[in-house]
Formats: sequence, structure tokens, C-alpha cells
Amino acid sequence: MPHVGECALCREQRELCCSHILPKFVFRWKKKTAVGGIRQLSDPNRRIQDGWKEPLLCRECEERFQKVETPFAERVFVPVHYGTAPAIIPYEDWALRFAVSVSWRVLVTSQRLGLGHVPASQMAAIEKAEEAWRAFLLGHEPHPGPHEQHMLIVTMIDESTMGKQSGHLNTYLYRAGQVDLLANEHVAYTYAKMGRIHIVGFIDERHRKKWKGTKISLRRGRFDLSGRYGVPEWLWSYWNEKAEAVGNVHDQMSERQRKVVRDTLKKNAVEFLGSETWLAQQVDLGLDPDRAHN
Ligand SMILES: [Zn+2]
Repeated sequence: MPHVGECALCREQRELCCSHILPKFVFRWKKKTAVGGIRQLSDPNRRIQDGWKEPLLCRECEERFQKVETPFAERVFVPVHYGTAPAIIPYEDWALRFAVSVSWRVLVTSQRLGLGHVPASQMAAIEKAEEAWRAFLLGHEPHPGPHEQHMLIVTMIDESTMGKQSGHLNTYLYRAGQVDLLANEHVAYTYAKMGRIHIVGFIDERHRKKWKGTKISLRRGRFDLSGRYGVPEWLWSYWNEKAEAVGNVHDQMSERQRKVVRDTLKKNAVEFLGSETWLAQQVDLGLDPDRAHN
């Protein structure tokens, strides 16, 4: 049954598509490379078959997004996740447009789910960011103003000078797909994690100088895969907190589901040894001696 409603982007009454909140290519990669299927934090015993979708956009707006998803997938996402990326990836104006399209989707779906965790003082900034991103995506404004987009392409973290590191950190940093709207009285961001690629959309950020080497330029620039970034300290604790949640998924799985994972590992031993899951877990084991004995 076609679902008719207001398109969240152009605001016209149209037939709505079931739009992916994180682009489809993210799920495709996860499905191809995940050992034991993809599981959600909220329901670890069930494998999921497709990414998170919502009736959000009309066909025309969906196509608008696809136009910028294709170059991003081909030139950035796929090379980064299949190990064929050069040290520097040049980009053009599709990069910022893609990042805004992701941040905007995260913001709008967060609004729909409810912003109970957000302080009232941030509500005006959230509305402003939504308007700025929507106007930019529709071509009504030449740039998203102060609501910048920042991107990190994270490589292996093998040493920490920033405090205690979760034993699951690299698994999380490599593998997890996640969206979030983070806010307190002083800052607010959208956050979208697609494997190693992290996109942060500024809703309210008064200390831009804390971000170094991460801002996506309007017309062209270069993504530097050396992983040398400057980011605010909160990001480190946030990652570690989420990494612990990822670790808990395995602990919460039923014995039957753990067996499914074990059997898959046995069957795919060769692929598994070469996969990033293995690499990431190896690093985790190396980092946390307590876990290595388990
Ligand atoms: Zn539309």
C-alpha cells in the first residue's frame, strides 16, 4: 500500500518512499562482511535483514539524495571499507551535500522519535539547523551556514593517551552503524557512524577550534586517511561508552545465537581470518589482557 503524506524535505503531499536513515550501501557492506549476521543493540537475538527505514521522502527527494550518495559510496565508502583507498581522497561538492543529507535525516528522525533527552534551551538551535540543512539540500541556500559538517575516517587505535580504553573500542570503531542526536546545555550535534566513517553535524558548537582536520568544505577538498584529527575530549568517552554497549550485545545473546555465530565462524574460517572483524578483535585482545584470557 503506498503511503501518502508530507515529504519531510520538500513538504509536498506525495507518495512517500521508505527511506534509509543510513544510506543503503552501509547495510550492504555490513551484510557482506558481518560474521554471524547483523544485530541490533536493543534485540541482540534477532538478525536484521535491512537497515533502518522510515516513510520520509517523496521519490523526487529520494533521487536528490541518491545523486550524492553514489559518488560518496564509489569514491569514499567502498575504498575505505574494502582496503583500496589511497592515503588522500579528493572530493568535490557532493561530499558536503552527502554529509548534510545524512545529518538532516538523523535530525528529522530524532525529532520524530522524541527529543526527551534534549534540554529545552537547545530546541531553537535544533530547529535552525533543520531549516538550514533543508534549505541547502533543496538548493535554496548556497551553504549550511554555521551548521557545519565534520567527518572522521577512523583507522585502528592501538595506543591511548586519553584514558581507559574499552576492550571493544576497535570493534565498535570499525563495524558499528549508529545514529544519534547528542545535546546538553552547551553543545548539540547530530552523529552518524557508518563503519569507519563518522559524520558530525553541528547544531550548536561554540568551540569550533577544537575540531582540526575534520571540516568538509563546500566546493572541494581532500579527506586525509592518516587519521590525524583534533576533536573535543567528549568524543573519546562517547566512543568508549558505545563500545561497551556493543560488547554487551555479545554477552546478552542467547546460547543458541552464540552457537550460530560460532558455526558461521567455523564455516567461513578462511574469510573470517582475513576480515576486519578478526583484525579489530585481535587488536582488542592485545589491548586488554583481562579479556585475552577469557
Ligand atoms: Zn519531497
